[in-house]
Amino acid sequence: MDQILIGKFISSERKRKGYTQKQLAEKLGISDKTVSKWETGNGFPEVSLLLPLCSELDITVNELLCGERVSEEDYIRKAEENMVNMIKEKEENRKKAKLTIAIGIISTVAFLTLLFVVCAYTDVISTPIKGLLILIACAIFGVGIVIAAEGERTIGYYKCKKCGEHFVPTVSEYTFGPHMITTRYLKCHHCGKTSWCKKVLSKDNEE
Ligand SMILES: [Zn+2]
Repeated sequence: MDQILIGKFISSERKRKGYTQKQLAEKLGISDKTVSKWETGNGFPEVSLLLPLCSELDITVNELLCGERVSEEDYIRKAEENMVNMIKEKEENRKKAKLTIAIGIISTVAFLTLLFVVCAYTDVISTPIKGLLILIACAIFGVGIVIAAEGERTIGYYKCKKCGEHFVPTVSEYTFGPHMITTRYLKCHHCGKTSWCKKVLSKDNEE
C-alpha cells in the first residue's frame, strides 16, 4: 500500500468532484486536517470511513487501495480473455488426446491383424514374408506406443499435488515415473517435491 500514491489519488478524485478539503471533511463528519493528512500521505482513512469516503468520491475501495482508477472493462476483458484461452486450450487438447487414442487403437489393431494374418495363413505365406510382416507389425505397434506416450506426456499438464502448479514432465521423468491410470509419480518443476501428479487437459483444474 503506497500512502503517498493513495493520498494523491484522494486529492485528485476530490478535486474532480469539485470539493474543497473542508467540504469533503464535512460530508464525512471529520476535520479538514484529517483529509489534509490523508492527501499528503501522512495518514490513512480508518476502516469505518473507507466506504463513506469511496462513495463520496465515486470510487471503489479497490481503487482507493490501488491509488488509481482500475478500469472495470479492462479487468473484465482480461478475465474473459483468460477464460476463452483456457477453454480453447482445453478443446484443442481434447482433440489431440482423441487423435492420440485413435492412433494407439489403430496401431494396435493393425499389429494384431498382421499377426493374425501370419498365423492364419501360415502355410500359404513363405517364411521371409512372414518375418517381414511381423517386423512391420512390430514397427507399427512401436510407433503407435511412442505417439500415444508422447501425447500423454505433452498434451495438457501434470498437476503437482503439493503446490498445485502445472508442468510437463521431461521424457525421462515421464518414462521412469510409476503411474496409475491418470496419475504419475513425478517431481514437480516448481516446488521440486515428488508426488502423484494428476493428468489435466488445462490449468483450470477440471479433468
Ligand atoms: Zn509442486
